[in-house]
Amino acid sequence: MNYRRVPPLAAALIMISQVHAEADPRPLAHDIFKQLIEINTTDSVGSTTLAAQAMADRLLAGGFPAADVVVLGPNARKGNMVARYRGRSGSKLRPILIIAHLDVVEARREDWSTDPFQFVEKDGYYYGRGTQDMKDNDAIIVTDFIRLKRAGYVPDRDIILALTADEEGGASNGVDWLLKNHRELIDAEYVLNPDAGGVTTSDGKPLAMEIEATEKLYADFQLSATNPGGHSSLPKPDNAIYHVANALALLERTPFPVELNNVTREYLAHMAQVETPQNAADIRSVLGATPDPAAVARLSTDARYNSTLRTTCVATMLEGGHARNALPQSATANVNCRILPGHSQEEIRLQLVQLFNDPQLQVRYRSDAGGLSEHASDRRAMAPPPLRADVMAALRDTVARQWPGIPIIPEMETGASDSVHTMLAGIPSYGVSGVAIDRDDQRMHGKDERVAIASYDGGLQFYYDFLIALTTKKP
Ligand SMILES: [Zn+2]
Repeated sequence: MNYRRVPPLAAALIMISQVHAEADPRPLAHDIFKQLIEINTTDSVGSTTLAAQAMADRLLAGGFPAADVVVLGPNARKGNMVARYRGRSGSKLRPILIIAHLDVVEARREDWSTDPFQFVEKDGYYYGRGTQDMKDNDAIIVTDFIRLKRAGYVPDRDIILALTADEEGGASNGVDWLLKNHRELIDAEYVLNPDAGGVTTSDGKPLAMEIEATEKLYADFQLSATNPGGHSSLPKPDNAIYHVANALALLERTPFPVELNNVTREYLAHMAQVETPQNAADIRSVLGATPDPAAVARLSTDARYNSTLRTTCVATMLEGGHARNALPQSATANVNCRILPGHSQEEIRLQLVQLFNDPQLQVRYRSDAGGLSEHASDRRAMAPPPLRADVMAALRDTVARQWPGIPIIPEMETGASDSVHTMLAGIPSYGVSGVAIDRDDQRMHGKDERVAIASYDGGLQFYYDFLIALTTKKP
């Protein structure tokens, strides 16, 4: 059946009735998930190309034209797959891009109860490396693409799926590579990234749906001082270790200013409703026009609130001197920063230089690969715009159907996912996942990683409904 000539709302209604007529999608979702888990995609010995090709083959078998499914990458082992689900022809709406990484963290057989690269079903769970992070959602989106295609669904705009390499590490990050080399393939109005956000449950009871709407930016800086040194029996006022130590003491005493954005404001407003009375009062003060410094100070003793309120920079490594009885010729420290959206790494480096105010002390940017440079990048993620009304409306509808009554909480990720690349490229990016994970069962990157079969099936239904809600025009 083809819905191209049916008005969009009618098409949506037909779609919803189709959900019941459709054959059970779970066997296909199971097979694709199993196939992905059993392809090793670690950086050390794995290949994302094999996984990308396998998913491309699934989509081709599911009815996608060959011209709309490509596997490409910088080398033979770090392939990415990009598939375009064509929307209504002549649509003026720009595409939605879904990014999802194929690579997984290393896993050693001897640490696990089962082979991490074998898909094991046991006691209502699927076990294997990547079952939570994030081959579950890779398989879910591929399956839902095939289901929608088979149902003849035509979205009101193109939906692009990019399954990518090297999110967890490695030198060939697929999202970054695609943006730099094939932006036209993945350019979009906004991004969905199922690697963040999701439903949290407690003993199986759903608590909240989190949507990740912005991320902090990661940066390492090396502080260093050098000195001719000398005999330690004749100390001089100029000492490399003291230069570095004084800078770190200043850093400890000088937090970055509080700065809220659309996302952290909404997050804090939600937390004020569920917090202890003291924390709730402090949050309301922080959200007010003139925050009470005492309230800011109290909230900042909580690591999670502190990282939500401001850019943070913290000493993480220290080295100095070469002999117990010699004046140090050099001292270095690593300072790790998590930068609020809207600010660049170089801006923060210059603020550190100004804070330390010590011409003897150098503050250099240290890249992920370990290289040092005098300046850091000027690129900055945009400060988050208000959450898109269309995305929030579709999310509310879908959540209300599947988990009625739970709140939807916008979040700023204080770590980082691949959304950092799309946000640096100026594309608003949202972390949305429908796989419910119990708060006591977070096993990403850990041993015996697993996902409840019911959660996986729930995530499958969630993205199916969510994509329809996002790409069907409301009357
Ligand atoms: Zn991940």
